[in-house]
Amino acid sequence: MLSTMQDVPLLISRILTHGSTIHGSSQVITWTGEAEPHRRSFAEIGTRSAQLAHALTEDLGVREDDRVATLAWNNAEHVEAYFAVPSMGAVLHTLNLRLPAEQLAWIVNHAADRVVIANGSLIPLLAPLLPHLPTVEHVVVTGPGDRTPLEGVRPRVHEYEELIAGKPTAYDWPELDERRAAAMCYTSGTTGDPKGVVYSHRSVYLHSMQVNMTESMGLTDQDTSLVVVPQFHVNAWGLPHATFMTGVNMLMPDRFLQPAPLAEMIEVERPTHAAAVPTIWQGLLAELTARPRDVSSLHQVTIGGAACPPSLMEAFDALGMRVCHAWGMTETSPLGTVARPPAHAVGTEEEFAYRLTQGRFPTGVEARLTGPGGERLPWDGQSAGELEVRGAWIAGAYYNGVDAEPLRPADKFSEDGWLKTGDVGTISPDGFLTLTDRAKDVIKSGGEWISSVDLENALMSHPDVAEAAVVAVPDDKWGERPLATVVLKEGATADFKTLRSFLAGEGIAKWQLPERWTIIESVPKTSVGKFDKKVLRRQYAEGKLDVQQL
Ligand code: AMP
Repeated sequence: MLSTMQDVPLLISRILTHGSTIHGSSQVITWTGEAEPHRRSFAEIGTRSAQLAHALTEDLGVREDDRVATLAWNNAEHVEAYFAVPSMGAVLHTLNLRLPAEQLAWIVNHAADRVVIANGSLIPLLAPLLPHLPTVEHVVVTGPGDRTPLEGVRPRVHEYEELIAGKPTAYDWPELDERRAAAMCYTSGTTGDPKGVVYSHRSVYLHSMQVNMTESMGLTDQDTSLVVVPQFHVNAWGLPHATFMTGVNMLMPDRFLQPAPLAEMIEVERPTHAAAVPTIWQGLLAELTARPRDVSSLHQVTIGGAACPPSLMEAFDALGMRVCHAWGMTETSPLGTVARPPAHAVGTEEEFAYRLTQGRFPTGVEARLTGPGGERLPWDGQSAGELEVRGAWIAGAYYNGVDAEPLRPADKFSEDGWLKTGDVGTISPDGFLTLTDRAKDVIKSGGEWISSVDLENALMSHPDVAEAAVVAVPDDKWGERPLATVVLKEGATADFKTLRSFLAGEGIAKWQLPERWTIIESVPKTSVGKFDKKVLRRQYAEGKLDVQQL
């Protein structure tokens, strides 16, 4: 028997219409580095998104399914593209501006982008790429930045403001099939070619509702969210869409992502929430320690994208900023788990341990653990296996061209369609995920596994250590052993023996203690700010690290 309910498609245009009317006075505040940030209301974003859609259709000839790329920081115009492009039936493709030039060109060509909307400040990055981007017909430039490198290039160049000026302020958004492509994002491609994940209107809509649930970020129109996580990194973790559903103001840092301006914008604009990867917060913490600021407005800080070291969580707690740890991936939209402790643990000694886990799965994400032999492992908080997930906002394949069959590599998708995350961990009986490693980063020593993350977290809790990354290196006797690479704080003097004994004191088993140690200036980072361990492994293999053996 069928239901008697209306079958209304879940569309991004609906989120835009809702946000720009019901929450029309909420704001997108963009940091400019000048005396005053730029403020634009959700109502204005609504009318300007309509104007952008008219310009893209009528002046640039963009049709349904065409890919419109953005090469942009987090700012109001980027939010307009977020809504206009999918709402008119085209596909928003957010480009990661930190990727090496060849990879960026590969991605634009693979997606066959027709239009690139770029910030003026990124013209030096874009202009040299254009001769290698045959599918790009139009470049639309927003904001400040020297335009001269774009003179004489093949694609037509337009000024964003001129393009949308005078266009009608309403657009008759089409009633699309909710399963159609809305946006795409390529994985950061640490191994092999980058892979494109294509989100649907339905997946974005459902994911945004989950972001808004109290058990996730739970923000309201009384909040202002400092969206540090880039709009090119998994849709800024869904925040632009989620905030338009609930009227949360967005504070956008544009290109001012260094610790000092971030500290200043927190003091001046008083956001109540912020979201970013741990490396951003490590930097901010050092800044706040050196130059204290009033950050008392910031009650909730969502940290994800890499494991949050306990020392970071403690330091933020001490400053009154409560960290909420979350796990996700490009393939999971990204919200997979959020670490809100269960009621029985709140106020008890268990609470901190719960907050350190990657978190609990929401209704929309099913999870299972698979052992090395393909066997299902129990949720006992002990058995470690590869995490597999399934749900309405989880990728089931990768993009392989408009008319081609999507890619379903066997190492990424199980035969029954679950996403193999490549993350290794345990799940407790009450559904809390604890990741012990990436499958490729775990150290296999004498038939046992050593978690690189455990060693890093313990090292980073030493007062002399600014950052630490541990990687597996080949060992004749044990197969692999851990190599500890350590960044010391300025003026710190701890030696390797001291650090090794410190690890033992932190509960690391004797056989897991690294005997190979090296000091480095900084941990190499990926394009989205995570530790790039493959660079360290390569440097070790090439003999470029000055390793001491204890
Ligand atoms: P990306 O697709 O670039 O966002 O990378 C996703 C990967 O980041 C995941 O598969 C994890 O390995 C890692 N990751 C994300 N969040 C966390 C977290 N809270 N703790 C540990 N690793 C994380």
